[in-house]
Amino acid sequence: MQKNLFLTNAINLIDETSAMLQNGHLDKGKLKQFVEDFKTPDQFISKELTVTMDNGEEKKFKAYRSQHNNNLGPYKGGIRFHQDVSAEEVQALSILMSFKCSLADIPLGGGKGGVIVNPKNLSEGELERLSKAYGADFSDHFGEYLDVPAPDVNTNGKIMAWMLDAYEQKKGRKAPAVFTGKPIDSGGSLGREEATGFGGFVTLKEYAKNKDMHLDKMTATVQGYGNAGYWFSHFAAESGIRIIAISDSTGAVIDRDGLDVEKLKQLKNRLGSLKKTAEQESLTFITNSELLTLNVDVLVPAALENEIDKENMEEIQAGVIVELANGPTTFAAEKHLTQRHVDVLPDILCNCGGVVASYFEWVQNLANESWSEETVFKKIEEYLVNAFHAVDEVRDEKGLTYRQAANVIAMKRIFEAEEK
Ligand code: NAD
Repeated sequence: MQKNLFLTNAINLIDETSAMLQNGHLDKGKLKQFVEDFKTPDQFISKELTVTMDNGEEKKFKAYRSQHNNNLGPYKGGIRFHQDVSAEEVQALSILMSFKCSLADIPLGGGKGGVIVNPKNLSEGELERLSKAYGADFSDHFGEYLDVPAPDVNTNGKIMAWMLDAYEQKKGRKAPAVFTGKPIDSGGSLGREEATGFGGFVTLKEYAKNKDMHLDKMTATVQGYGNAGYWFSHFAAESGIRIIAISDSTGAVIDRDGLDVEKLKQLKNRLGSLKKTAEQESLTFITNSELLTLNVDVLVPAALENEIDKENMEEIQAGVIVELANGPTTFAAEKHLTQRHVDVLPDILCNCGGVVASYFEWVQNLANESWSEETVFKKIEEYLVNAFHAVDEVRDEKGLTYRQAANVIAMKRIFEAEEK
């Protein structure tokens, strides 16, 4: 399999983490074998999905599922619909999921899926048929205790409900626990939609407490205004953080006095993009590259991977990066930022609120329970606070970066689970 930059980064992280684990009391021979195995998924499944388009033609779409590691529990991870999806990207994202579930201390393993498609080019009916084809064609690889998918970039609750419907038809039984991130009336959990952004906010809140920083005196920029970026902005703005720039794939709006995040979301939903919003509201519009290098306290990449790289790392001015997206900072860029004392709060910590809520959804489905929103938020906060402090303790004790500490905790748990 040809390695892209993202996969190379993920493998670099495994190597770096294993070198740090070598200094501990673990069996070195077994660890070496584990690390080699950990670089490739347990299973990697590729399929061609056939979808009937509105004009009656049949079109094929390349689709993937990577089942990386299940030492801690069933494979778990989102399904991405994007034109740039590749086998390597899906594999890299599944590695991150193994790290993430372990760090969050939930009994789930790492998986990820994707389809090479630009969903903006599909009608609603075509999107439904594509989603159902994925749910049906991969059904033998999914199951409550085997592999439990969820939404990711360009997929949502509605798409999960379509996939579940196709899965249930294929299997001839009700199986709500097989997909998470579902709408509430299809067995979804209250709080799941907000969970990723909320978890990122809780991480920043704990970090700020440790550093004696006051949220209401902080400024932030957010790249990506989808599920993760919007909900982070919602909770951050509520706490007094001034969000001065927000972007989507069309570019960024900026206001040094602070943006009205709710109004912006409503306008983006109605007009379709931030570019059109800026035109209508006469807001200053800048590029995504400009947003990344603004002088603020907090930079929140919440779009796609490899956004902070060799090209722009020297121009980053933020003091702390809250990685809501998966893999937004390249290995090389993080090395550089660390030398400049810019803290990078890693993806597997900042965005694990989503998978923690998915875990709660799975538990509720298996037990046929429905928890209140208050219970879900309280429990997400508990898991996130515990994860942050576990990372901070190891970072402090061993002189590591936040990412190194998070990876050490996560990989050690997965390795030890194999030993049991
Ligand atoms: P989404 O599809 O809801 O939103 C993505 C946003 O990013 C959109 O506003 C889009 O316009 C914007 N975008 C796309 N390309 C961009 C670019 N080049 N520059 C700026 N903005 C761009 O997706 P999401 O669910 O919010 O996911 C965002 C990131 O968070 C992804 O990396 C995803 O893997 C990660 N994540 C999401 C969840 C979740 O529960 N939603 C959980 C964990 C991790």
